[in-house]
Amino acid sequence: MQKGIIAIVGTTGVGKSDLGVQLAKTLQGEIINGDSMQVYKGLDIITNKIPLNEQETIPHHLMDFLEPHQEYRVTDFTKDALQIIDDIHNRQRIPIIVGGTNYYIQSLLWKNSLIEGDSLNIYEKESNIENDEILNAEPKIVYERLQKVDPVMASKWHWNDTRRVRRSLQVYLETGKPHSEWIKEQNLPEEKASSLRFPRTCIFWLYSDLEVLDHRLDARINKMIEGGLFEEINYLRNNVRTGEVKTPFGDGGFTRGIWQVIGYKEFDQYLAAVEESNDASYINELKQHGIESMKAATHRYARTQVRWIRNKLLYKCQQDSLVNILNENSSDIRMYLLDATSLETWNQEVRDKAIAIAKEFLENGTGPDPSSVNSRAKELLRPKKNMDDFEILDKWTKYQCDICTMFNDNIPRIINGESGWNQHLKSKKHKSNLKLKKQFDENYDGQFPPWFKKKKDAGSKTNV
Ligand SMILES: [Zn+2]
Repeated sequence: MQKGIIAIVGTTGVGKSDLGVQLAKTLQGEIINGDSMQVYKGLDIITNKIPLNEQETIPHHLMDFLEPHQEYRVTDFTKDALQIIDDIHNRQRIPIIVGGTNYYIQSLLWKNSLIEGDSLNIYEKESNIENDEILNAEPKIVYERLQKVDPVMASKWHWNDTRRVRRSLQVYLETGKPHSEWIKEQNLPEEKASSLRFPRTCIFWLYSDLEVLDHRLDARINKMIEGGLFEEINYLRNNVRTGEVKTPFGDGGFTRGIWQVIGYKEFDQYLAAVEESNDASYINELKQHGIESMKAATHRYARTQVRWIRNKLLYKCQQDSLVNILNENSSDIRMYLLDATSLETWNQEVRDKAIAIAKEFLENGTGPDPSSVNSRAKELLRPKKNMDDFEILDKWTKYQCDICTMFNDNIPRIINGESGWNQHLKSKKHKSNLKLKKQFDENYDGQFPPWFKKKKDAGSKTNV
């Protein structure tokens, strides 16, 4: 078996941990946690850790080992995970990365692929509501904004091409990096070698219809509260109070480390009131408000995850797959969507399909067409907006035809894009120039014969 890897991605609460254990049991695998919150010790409820009794003796690496005041950067994660994967491979077992956190997964599967900005803020925050407002402003205002942050991209679009202008601005707002930079960095045509770290990468996207998932997430939050959520939050609050955490992140700094976990800041006011107030109805009001905030934040987070998978991960997989085929590289990557909307059909739709696909791909490098696995896959595994990037990339690749340049008074004849270039090679003009050039090479030592120059001058005169 090649040194392959399985990655399970998908929204929070969709069942990634369960699938991980099921795959590991059948395929001799070991789990590597890819969730930046589950690296923390304890705090099992608030970080949604798989209970010990459900781990079924499968090793779970990189889980449950950090204190609240510690930070674990993506570079730490990548270094540790790569070492563990090496060990797992040496034991002839299959590493299965189960995870949650976009930039962890991405930096593990690809070299040099960290999306800056993602690491600053993994959860969709209020700022995205601001983003929506910016993006939905008048077309001219949106365009002016793009001109400021990404003049290169702005110069490519007309101000009223609202779809493209918005998309470019959105990329900047979401990643903190101009769209043009992304395109340049990620799609350099000369970058022929695959940046995949492993020869065979099999990604399972565990998907549930979001409205169905929302109900599951709400139920999970109610269960978390019954199971002791507030005790864990109080433990974290005490960490801050006793100075064990020297509020490294400033006032209300809930944006780093464990402090950004959904559920902590949402109940901050409530738990403060429990300590300071005697007004039972006020306290209860804050508690209900906290529950609603936590539910809303979880729903938003699920949508952020789906957007990342569809707009970034899927795109990267498909692009890498293409690059590998075109260059006959040996490494391969596949992404399969499994439908976890109905828990009743989990075994047939999720477990059994995942086992069969992973086995075939990791052993033989083959497998079914991802869009044929279920009806949702057909719809969701299509690159959507990001196809624009392919088009842009194509337009940005410039070709110069030396032959036609010669016949054009040495004014460079530039053709944009590969498809344009292929068309050019077939064009009458190019073919006739090529034929002439051949004749001149054979009979006139590569120079233009005097009669040709005259004819050409005469020709251009008559044109004027
Ligand atoms: Zn030409």
